[in-house]
Amino acid sequence: MKLSDIKGLGPTTEKYLNELGIFNAEDLINYYPYRYEIIENTDIDKLEDGDKIVVGGICENNPNVFRFNRKLNKMTFRLNTGRFIARVDIFNRIFLKDKLTVGTPITVIGKYDQKHSSITASDIKFGLIEETMIEPVYHSSFKISSSKISKLIKASLEKIKIKDYLPGSVCQKYKFISKDEAIKIAHNPKDKRSLNKALKRLKYEELFNFMLKINYLKDRKKKGNGLKRKVSYSKVEKIINNLPFELTKDQEKSVKDIYNDLISENRMNRLLQGDVGSGKTIVAFIALYINYLSGYQGALMAPTEILAHQHVLNIKRLLPNLNIVFLKGKMKTKEKREAKELIKEGKADIIIGTHALISEDVEYKSLGLVITDEQHRFGVNQRGNLKNKGMTPDILYMSATPIPRTYALTLYGDMDISSIRTMPSGRKPVKTILKKNKDIKDVLYMMLDEIKKGHQIYVVAPLVEESEKIELEDTYKLEEKMNKAFGKICKIGVMHGKMKPDEKANVMNEFKEGKITILISTTVIEVGVDVPNATMMVIFDSFRFGLSALHQLRGRVGRNSLDSYCILLSDRETKRLNVLTKTNDGFKVSEEDFKLRGGGDIFGTRQSGDMNFKLADVKNDYDLLLITKEDSSRFIKSKEFNEEKYSHIKSSVENSLNQD
Ligand code: ADP
Ligand code: MG
Repeated sequence: MKLSDIKGLGPTTEKYLNELGIFNAEDLINYYPYRYEIIENTDIDKLEDGDKIVVGGICENNPNVFRFNRKLNKMTFRLNTGRFIARVDIFNRIFLKDKLTVGTPITVIGKYDQKHSSITASDIKFGLIEETMIEPVYHSSFKISSSKISKLIKASLEKIKIKDYLPGSVCQKYKFISKDEAIKIAHNPKDKRSLNKALKRLKYEELFNFMLKINYLKDRKKKGNGLKRKVSYSKVEKIINNLPFELTKDQEKSVKDIYNDLISENRMNRLLQGDVGSGKTIVAFIALYINYLSGYQGALMAPTEILAHQHVLNIKRLLPNLNIVFLKGKMKTKEKREAKELIKEGKADIIIGTHALISEDVEYKSLGLVITDEQHRFGVNQRGNLKNKGMTPDILYMSATPIPRTYALTLYGDMDISSIRTMPSGRKPVKTILKKNKDIKDVLYMMLDEIKKGHQIYVVAPLVEESEKIELEDTYKLEEKMNKAFGKICKIGVMHGKMKPDEKANVMNEFKEGKITILISTTVIEVGVDVPNATMMVIFDSFRFGLSALHQLRGRVGRNSLDSYCILLSDRETKRLNVLTKTNDGFKVSEEDFKLRGGGDIFGTRQSGDMNFKLADVKNDYDLLLITKEDSSRFIKSKEFNEEKYSHIKSSVENSLNQD
């Protein structure tokens, strides 16, 4: 229905509504109040001077009108509340004058002045409020007020027919009122109870539809389009038994999950998550090996060249008989051509690289498995590109930002998840200490202690978003500071985003070899190399980071049996940062992060346009989200899910798949 079809809605108003993003009557009725004003009669016995007052009474006289100028006027009259008589002043409501006659029952809302027994009213309602009055408040503009919007919505609600997509079985289960009724109540609530019921019904529907899409997507992605493989698990066991260490339970379980996915006829779409250092890499390698045994090529993408190179060295050690190809961004033309040919002819068994794997025209002979390490670093489109390279390769994502399972289920609802929760044995938890900037001296002494023991230290410079220039300055300022303190006793190295890859590699190598004792860097630098002798990390202005990011950073230390420390410097947000001093469990950290920041970090990694709910809020309505997840998954498998009525879900999922 067009806006112009609504009674009392002219072209000017239509323009104002357009500016609020409302283009038709459906938009209008879906424009929910952002809050509700609850008006209750004030308890007169508790009333004090200057309090807000809501009081009913009878007009004792016709109002006196004062006009100060063209824009400013005031009416004054006496109100008999039954308990006392108050003078009421109200500004700029001259249009109410004819209705405010002697004997009229009204409710006055305003501010109470005890000394003069007067009320400066902000609003007057006709009639007495019996219990509670709830007024919807809409996001409005200077041009169109909340109450005008309210009126227009009420007018259009009378005319419009509202489609109800919620399955009958669900409505029955929760005794939901109809959508029609719920929307009417949301815009025109009578009491708190029915309002809450209506809002719950509407939120449920939003979340249900969202989860329905995700569940549909999950089914759609998987069904039957996997690769045919035959590998016996005994071969997998053999390589596991030959490892220099025993796999942790979670690692073993993850390998099994992946094995089962790979040999099944459905396509794998799995997330492997676990803290930094939890041992995801070996699981990925075994996955690549299974894939190889079944006759396919496998690709492993790492976020940086340093990490990719590390993977190459490690996998060659594990699988010396396989043909491993390292594809770098910067390679000699001839070298690169040869590498690509090996891949095309199928002579390369496993291909490891960075973005080069996808950003260039690499042709695979038989790509069967694609693994991305630190998946959140890759944009959606890049991932999409890669998927199209082979046939329909199985996909494994690895992430070191652990997400509590429940959250992950919704965020990565279209994926299966394996989690590595326990660290390999022999790890000592990092001791995390929070310090104020004024206590920098203590910190320097702690650093000195470590240096004296022959240990090494990471110093993380404050990160300033998108400002390389400031980043540089800050890094150099820190270098100066560190040089003043320790320049005479040890070597200090600096790494920052502006350096060339080989310059970075040089600094990194010197740190690894122990020539550099203190390494100053920004997080832009992937400190991917394992330096077990580094036992301390000092992070300046740590409030700038999300908890999960800080947790990942501190994972760089504590890589041997020595005591190791992470020192967080910050004058701000100490309550939030304190979480890190209390736990070393990445899953717990990200859960706290989620609670405190609404999953800022987490949702940032996988934003979905579908998540823009009108009423529901992923954080506050999380329990409801979980319920709808279950309900929708059951529904999608039921007979009720008839394609006709729910075809809009199908088409919107197909659309989002095309973008992926
Ligand atoms: P991440 O999950 O961060 O990728 P890695 O796979 O790099 O962690 O593992 C960190 C280190 O732990 C590596 O040196 C690896 O060899 C070692 N490691 C992995 N699994 C185990 C295990 N089950 N027992 C002992 N050490 C292990
Ligand atoms: Mg890793």
